[in-house]
Amino acid sequence: MKAVRIHEFGGPEVLRCEDVPDPKPRLDQVLVRIKACALNHVDLWVRKGLPGVSLPRIPGADIAGEIVEVGEFVTGLKPRQRVLLAPMHFCNHCAKCVGGLQNQCREFTVLGNGVDGGDCELIAIPAVNVIPIPDSLDFNQAASMPLVFLTAWHMLVGRGNVRPGQTVLVLGGSSGVGIAAIQVAKLFGARVIATAGDETKLEKARTLGADDVINHYQQKISDQVRKLTNKEGVDIVIEHVGSATWEESWKSLKPAGTLVTCGATTGFNGSIDLRHLFSRQLSLLGSYMGTMGELHEVLGHIFAGRLKPVVDRVFPLKEIRAAHEYLAGSKMFGKVVLNP
Ligand SMILES: [Zn+2]
Repeated sequence: MKAVRIHEFGGPEVLRCEDVPDPKPRLDQVLVRIKACALNHVDLWVRKGLPGVSLPRIPGADIAGEIVEVGEFVTGLKPRQRVLLAPMHFCNHCAKCVGGLQNQCREFTVLGNGVDGGDCELIAIPAVNVIPIPDSLDFNQAASMPLVFLTAWHMLVGRGNVRPGQTVLVLGGSSGVGIAAIQVAKLFGARVIATAGDETKLEKARTLGADDVINHYQQKISDQVRKLTNKEGVDIVIEHVGSATWEESWKSLKPAGTLVTCGATTGFNGSIDLRHLFSRQLSLLGSYMGTMGELHEVLGHIFAGRLKPVVDRVFPLKEIRAAHEYLAGSKMFGKVVLNP
């Protein structure tokens, strides 16, 4: 099959399209013909070099396609079914996994990160990862959803315990996680303030449900939040931008507010004033992907049409270098998808 592999870390030029042997499914696995694989920011980090990534590696986490072959031990799935894949790898037998906390498994990693992913034509994958999709979703839409919606769900519901009437500040409302977080927060009856970098993106964030928007290049986020909340601040901040917005995010919290972070696109360092942490009784929570139970829960809302996919642009797999450059340029609103 054709596959994109990286043999060394670096710029887009290390993404090489080449012929590799077709994967052979084990008896407990399913062979899936990949129709679409969405990009995530983590793909850029993997390409540039991340601890735990061995080489060569096929990147790509968010996969949708059609079942080709089903292993002897697999029940409930059959060839030609349209499916998406849970974008994660876990052992499925440790205490954490059987307790439903797959994202705390010692083997836990994202597809295309610690194990091979979907920037290729075929993948052999454990049956537990394979989830049938309704006809209402095309493959590009299906591939655009799992990682970011699972991440947003775990941040807001699993970690942040969002409740009706709360105010949620979503940083980077035009990013994959931001688009998902706006919709999930609205689903739970929260008021949403979203930030984005230009007027077009701010307008699109509004159409997704954001009640108020802030231009994070032209306005000081915490000042705007104070204005919009009668000087109170927000209950929950959804942070994934990192260094560039950390201080503003922290200052936007109301007393006893919660900051949840799942990423650090602009840099890994952020400081906090410990006096604010204790005297204002703030909570700082880390969040990483989510559990299989949460994935099934959020997919239920997606399949029912209550949460909507936003696909920005589709590239052929062989143009993956251009797709990576496009993603790095942050011009998109929604997901960038590759088609093999
Ligand atoms: Zn495990």
